[in-house]
Amino acid sequence: MERISVFDMFKVGVGPSSSHTVGPWRAALDVLAQYRDREVKSIQVKLFGSLAKTGIGHGTDVAVMLGLSGYDPTTIDTSQIAFLIGRLQAEKSLPFGTQAIAFDPTEDIQFLKKFLPTHPNALRFVIKLKDKNIAQETYYSIGGGFIKKEGELPMHEDRIFPFPIDSEKDLMQWVSRENCSIDAIVLQNELSLNSPETIRHQLLSIWKTMEDCIYKGCHTEGILPGGLSVQRRAYHLNKKLLKGLNYGNKSEWLDAVRSSEKSFSNMTRWISCFALAVNEENAGFGRVVTAPTNGAAGVIPAVLMYYLSFCQHQGDDDIIRFLLTAGEIGSLFKKGSTISAAMGGCQAEIGVSSSMAAAGLTACEGGNPHQVVMAAEIAMEHHLGLTCDPISGLVQIPCIERNTMGAMKAITASQLALSGEFTHSKIRLDGIIKTMWETAKDMHRKYKETSEGGLARHISEMLPEC
Ligand code: SF4
Repeated sequence: MERISVFDMFKVGVGPSSSHTVGPWRAALDVLAQYRDREVKSIQVKLFGSLAKTGIGHGTDVAVMLGLSGYDPTTIDTSQIAFLIGRLQAEKSLPFGTQAIAFDPTEDIQFLKKFLPTHPNALRFVIKLKDKNIAQETYYSIGGGFIKKEGELPMHEDRIFPFPIDSEKDLMQWVSRENCSIDAIVLQNELSLNSPETIRHQLLSIWKTMEDCIYKGCHTEGILPGGLSVQRRAYHLNKKLLKGLNYGNKSEWLDAVRSSEKSFSNMTRWISCFALAVNEENAGFGRVVTAPTNGAAGVIPAVLMYYLSFCQHQGDDDIIRFLLTAGEIGSLFKKGSTISAAMGGCQAEIGVSSSMAAAGLTACEGGNPHQVVMAAEIAMEHHLGLTCDPISGLVQIPCIERNTMGAMKAITASQLALSGEFTHSKIRLDGIIKTMWETAKDMHRKYKETSEGGLARHISEMLPEC
């Protein structure tokens, strides 16, 4: 089993997709690192399976071009992406390290609908060298921005954690033996990789990126790219909820949100607003944190923002508790099932993010470890079988709204777990992870990020006439 850090689960990246944008981007960066010092004549990129079927809408072509050009998804100025791609397309020239390689995206990026047997998200780089040798590098984008290179072992097998965890059973055994919380166990594992100061700093900076994303999404209006003419809604909802209140910066906005009316309908609208904001940013190639994926990036920020805005909290300590707990739950799904929609449908994205958020919230609300995993189990239980059918291959419909639903289910699951008796629970988290994986295997391929089934299939009937 992989030894997964919380920082593998929460990665700063660029929208709209972790598996179709961030993963291929990282694969392209890996190719650049390997070949930048060789004399390269040409590069061709072949996208297979789901990467080909929804790659245009998910920005896979953009991601590989930026990766080969040396831009990093964690640091790129996202406002420059359109310009950089426009220039590359016009000049038909790829900056590759210190070399400039002739590259015509319409010919050199091929969308091949066939599936490779190892994983539905596969991409291959064919590198022709000036010494006439030809190299091929094949990668699989296995969800959440994780990649696996053909022929290599799973990532991070060499990490040694004091509390190795492959299942809920392992986790609860350590918790019981050490008589501590889930986040305390996760922290001990993280300490084998980083200092306490680094872990704290990095977790808070992840939250800051999430918070910035919510703020930006709440203050950006207009139409999302891609051709569906989807209107951004967080901007208008934020305005409506604040009833014309004036503020000058993020800190004043946060104060305004916290002091707004705390009725049930107001709070649920805020939760929707936070989730919409993140996923509209994601759809617009903005800066997001994979949590555990980009398509589902709004659930965890929405639930944590709800907690920090409307519940009694302990500030930074709660942010850290939330993220450590949620990250561990996400890694259990990655190890025992999948976080790739191309493997498991939307249950693997929105379902897992909702489960992670439910666990994080329950830990912050004072739930014991049994209640935390119970909340995670409940949240996934009610996402089982959720299909992935993004219209036109864009991470917009149903994706953006679906994050609001995932956030609400997470809060309900947490409340149920906190008010229930965990000894009465009939289903364990391990059981639900296994069930999710069985469901994923039974699910027809057309419902797994191909845009060939469900909502995506009936697009022409559902879209308003132009
Ligand atoms: S339908 Fe769900 S899994 Fe599919 S792209 Fe949208 S958010 Fe991701």
